[in-house]
Amino acid sequence: MLISLPQDVARLIRITAPSPPSALVTIVARGDAVDGYYEFRCQQPEAIVLRDWLQSHAETIRSTDSATATLLTDAAELVAGAIATELAYERLLSGALQSAAITRTQAGVGDGTHRCSVCDEWIVGPVQLRVFFLDGPPRYFHGRCHDAWVQQRRSMMGEDA
Ligand SMILES: [Zn+2]
Repeated sequence: MLISLPQDVARLIRITAPSPPSALVTIVARGDAVDGYYEFRCQQPEAIVLRDWLQSHAETIRSTDSATATLLTDAAELVAGAIATELAYERLLSGALQSAAITRTQAGVGDGTHRCSVCDEWIVGPVQLRVFFLDGPPRYFHGRCHDAWVQQRRSMMGEDA
């Protein structure tokens, strides 16, 4: 159970990146208080909880143990990337993300007025990408979500652009 991730996790010793399109993430960590290793495996939607947990703990730990905080931050990034990949794949499969040709992509800063087409969350701050298509309205993406979407789109459609 992901929520039971122990509070005394001191160091992440191995993070297994998922193979797209699966969001299965394995995180192995060692707690100072207990000998041995913890192993966590998670999938959507638990991955979202794990990402948030890792992010909040990295912030808490940062002042006293920068090495562990960095590991937690890296793990949170990896989990977030896995989530984006999984969501992009699902949305392409379901047709929720159109496959029309892209005509232009603009990068900017999100002002919180657009939702990301991959993760559905409001885009606030850098980076927001606005993608224009041959037909249909433009779509908006977080930087990471855009990368995952482009990657999945290419692999599913054999597209170069
Ligand atoms: Zn997003």
